[in-house]
Amino acid sequence: MKAIAVRPGAGSPEVVDQPVPEPAPGEALVRICRVGIDGTDYEVIEGSHGGVPDGDDRLILGHEAVGVVEDANGTALEHGQYVVPTVRRPPAGVETNDYFERGEPDMAPEGEYVERGIVGAHGFMAEYITSPYDCLVPISAELAPWGFLVEPISITEKAIEHARATRSAFDWRPESALVLGTGSLGLLTVAMFAETLDYERIYCLGRTDRPHPTIDIVERLGATYIDSRETPVSEIAGAYEPMDVVYEATGYAKHAFESIDALAPNGVAALLGVPTDWSFEVDGGRLHRDLVLHNKALVGSVNSNRRHFERAVDTLSSLPDWVLESVVTGVHGLEAVDRAFPEATARVAAAGRASTAASDDDTTIKTAVEFTGI
Ligand code: NDP
Ligand code: ZN
Repeated sequence: MKAIAVRPGAGSPEVVDQPVPEPAPGEALVRICRVGIDGTDYEVIEGSHGGVPDGDDRLILGHEAVGVVEDANGTALEHGQYVVPTVRRPPAGVETNDYFERGEPDMAPEGEYVERGIVGAHGFMAEYITSPYDCLVPISAELAPWGFLVEPISITEKAIEHARATRSAFDWRPESALVLGTGSLGLLTVAMFAETLDYERIYCLGRTDRPHPTIDIVERLGATYIDSRETPVSEIAGAYEPMDVVYEATGYAKHAFESIDALAPNGVAALLGVPTDWSFEVDGGRLHRDLVLHNKALVGSVNSNRRHFERAVDTLSSLPDWVLESVVTGVHGLEAVDRAFPEATARVAAAGRASTAASDDDTTIKTAVEFTGI
């Protein structure tokens, strides 16, 4: 069968031949339909995040998948059922650990998990995969064409759950929310804020000139676009309003600290970005004081568990078609893999000339690879 793999740091993925995997007891064989691509995949391709499985020199990519059960292999699943796989698994050679047993592998520390398609385990960009049946979340045939969005939506389900939990000790009534980043995670989050949460005013920060499809999506969702080149995050509270919720999805490390300035008293910022090392100066005393004297909270959040995936399936069903059709700018077959990964080429080119890896393909928002039609 065909699969898409990368040697980390090679700069671009390649199509490789692999044997079809055999399901072990308790696993099902899944025929993969579509696999989404996001910023994490590009970080893995660049070699700045993730890693190959032990003893291997390349990694099969892909952590945002939807497929159909080909062989239920005696598990509770049914042949023909569409499913979305979760991402974390116990480390190689370990059957389970406390985090997996509790259904909370997303809370496992490094070393207690691998992530399929990201770190230590092959991913889902292959014609067939095997997976423990309880890591496969059912989705209806109707939603299946968009099923590769369940994983990124689940990331926000978890982050918002954790952000709300930090505010659960008092009568918190958030009205304003700011999303940092107009990548696919940022835009899906603006859509979730607008369609499924009742924030009265939503803002989204990007760094793109008008006209641009990402700004069109933000504004059609009723949110206000803020250009970080005109209004840095640290000035948003004064220029617009202090925010009850900030959701950082830029991976731009200064935003973690500037979010404290953007927050209203009693507000919470969820940090999602995964920056590389970067030293810079902040006024630590002022930020520390602001956090304490205004009951502010910062919460980091990574990955998601089955419960978040199940909630994400519901959320996906409530997002309007136009949002999905606008965010997903291309679904490409194996014969057009380069078109599915437009940023890989652009980032390699950009690496030689600038510290920021802006895409040369300015209209691509999110792409997916299609292995078999739905
Ligand atoms: P993208 O790279 O597609 O999006 C990042 C966006 O942030 C881009 O639109 C980029 O703009 C924008 N951005 C970066 N710096 C700035 C700035 N200074 N001002 C304004 N905008 C800026 O990534 P994703 O949407 O896929 O993911 C977002 C982040 O979340 C990434 O860091 C990713 O690693 C992380 N992530 C974390 C997960 C978790 O579990 N914690 C899960 C998935 C992703 P431009 O287009 O101009 O570069
Ligand atoms: Zn992802």
